[in-house]
Amino acid sequence: MLLNIAIDGPGGAGKSTIARAVAKQLGIVYVDTGALYRTIGLYVRRHDTDPADMDAVAALLPGISLEIKYEDGGQQVYLNGERVGDAIRTPEMSHYASAVSVHPPVRNFLLDTQRDIARKTSVIMDGRDIGTVILPDAQVKIFLTASPECRAERRCLELREKGIDTTFEAVLAEMNERDARDSGRAVAPAVAANDAVHFDNTGMTLEQSVDYVLALVKEKTGVSVGEAK
Ligand code: C5P
Repeated sequence: MLLNIAIDGPGGAGKSTIARAVAKQLGIVYVDTGALYRTIGLYVRRHDTDPADMDAVAALLPGISLEIKYEDGGQQVYLNGERVGDAIRTPEMSHYASAVSVHPPVRNFLLDTQRDIARKTSVIMDGRDIGTVILPDAQVKIFLTASPECRAERRCLELREKGIDTTFEAVLAEMNERDARDSGRAVAPAVAANDAVHFDNTGMTLEQSVDYVLALVKEKTGVSVGEAK
C-alpha cells in the first residue's frame, strides 16, 4: 500500500523532527517541502531581487532547476546542480521563503515536484498546504501546533546548535510575523484540512510526539512500524 502522510502547521512545532523520526521507523521517505521554498528564496536573494515582487520572482523561475536527492540519510536539495546544504537554514532564508511562497507562480512551480514523489513512493511530507492542496487524498493528515513560546524556544535551540547567535525575543518576533503571513495569505494558506487531526504537542517530548503519530497512522491505515514499504 502506498502510504501518504501529511503534516502541516506553523514553524517550530517540530514537524520536520517528528516526520523524520516517523519516516525512519516506518521505513518510508520524509519530504521537507519548506526546503524547496527556501531554495527558491536563496536564488531570489542571490539575484538581488525583492521577494515581495511577484513579477520579478516569477521571471526568475525558468532559470531554476530543483532536484531532491536522499544522501547521508537525509534530504538534500540541489539548485541547478549545486547542493544547497545549510545555506537555506538561516533566519534570512526563513524570511525569503515565506515572502516568495505567497506568489501563485512559485506555488505552481513546486506543485508537480511534490506530488510526483508521493505518487511513486510512500511518504510523510511536511509543510503548510500538504493536507489541503498537495496531497488532499493523504490517508493521515495532522495539523501540528504548540504554543508560540514553546515553538520559539525550540527554534532558538535549533539555531544555536547551528552556531547562529540569536535571542528568544528575536526568534519569537520573526516567527509570529512569518506565521501571520503564512496563515493569512490568499493562496494555499497554512490552515488545517477539514479532515486533519489537530495535535498540540506543547510540553511533549520528541518520543511522545512520534508515538502519537505512529499510533494515529496505525489507527487510520492499519500500518505499524516495519510494515510500510
Ligand atoms: O517549513 P519551513 O519553515 O522550512 O518553511 C519555510 C517557509 O516556506 C514557510 O514559512 C512558508 O512560508 C513556506 N512554505 C509553504 N508551503 C509549504 C512549506 C513551506 O508556503 N508546503
